[in-house]
Amino acid sequence: MAKRFAADKYVEGILAGNRVLLSQAITLVESRLPSDQELAHEVMDKVLPHTGNSIRIGITGVPGVGKSTFIETFGTYLIQAQQKKLAVLAIDPTSQRSGGSILGDKTRMELLSMNPQAYIRPSPAGKSLGGVTRSTRESILLCEAAGFDAIIVETVGVGQSETAVHEMVDFFLLLMLAGAGDELQGIKRGIMEMADAIAITKADEQNILKANAAKSEYQNALHLYPVAASGWLPKVSVCSALQNTGLDQIWETITEYLQLTQNNGFFEKKRRDQNLQWMFEAIRQGLEEKFYANPQVKMQLPALKTVVQEGQKSAFAAAAELLKLL
Ligand code: GDP
Repeated sequence: MAKRFAADKYVEGILAGNRVLLSQAITLVESRLPSDQELAHEVMDKVLPHTGNSIRIGITGVPGVGKSTFIETFGTYLIQAQQKKLAVLAIDPTSQRSGGSILGDKTRMELLSMNPQAYIRPSPAGKSLGGVTRSTRESILLCEAAGFDAIIVETVGVGQSETAVHEMVDFFLLLMLAGAGDELQGIKRGIMEMADAIAITKADEQNILKANAAKSEYQNALHLYPVAASGWLPKVSVCSALQNTGLDQIWETITEYLQLTQNNGFFEKKRRDQNLQWMFEAIRQGLEEKFYANPQVKMQLPALKTVVQEGQKSAFAAAAELLKLL
């Protein structure tokens, strides 16, 4: 990374809403350099008392469902009609492998990226899913400290990243297409179970009838699930990001959810549980990094891989031997 400042400089800048310093601090939490990490931890500790004051919304859906168009229109609605300051963060599990990413870069949301009340940060490239989700959690907190009171975390509905996003947000919104083959096959069942709301996208022109039919179908499917610990019954609605319809209803659903869960204590409990989860996840990742960086492990791993592949040693015995080196 370019220039590094003392932790206080980042903290002061972030609290004053300085976007340049916010971006630099996010780059810092994304860095794997031990000296950057140390500085990042200091910054995180100092901003922590100023975090938590936002609604964190996760948005997922298969490529082409209309995520970026939705976020562009919904984000603009949040800013204009709800006076929110909005940060959009992306988790793209494909960007590290192919170099190409499904979510693309921030130019996808052209209007929003020019809006002074919005801050858009694309997914860091070249990171493992674990690395991306860790830095996204910290980025959420940094954005909150910088005064953003609505945070959207976007991911693609193609892998493990939905679970990771679900674990870091208050409200999880699943975008679905109508009439894309068998209605319930388009997306993994587990993802539907995580959703607090489903929005059928592109409900405009000749799609309207199909969208409404899909709505009833999903609503019926959701009724088959057991009632969630939050006491909330997931809602299904239709919307068109192009024609700007149905978006206020989605915001209404989110506020209803907030009212219910803030009154029954679930909101606070979920955030507390998520904090703990983040800690254990950080421990797990830290241990793994420490393990693979260990010179003894690096030296012995290649030979042990061969004997395990060839069946001369059990996988468990080999793992135990390597773990003893830590
Ligand atoms: P993403 O891959 O999920 O981010 O999807 P995009 O937002 O890029 O949208 C994919 C395609 O669907 C684009 O051609 C959009 O113009 C189109 N699209 C998105 N939202 C709507 C909508 O509300 N109505 C219609 N008719 N098309 C839409």
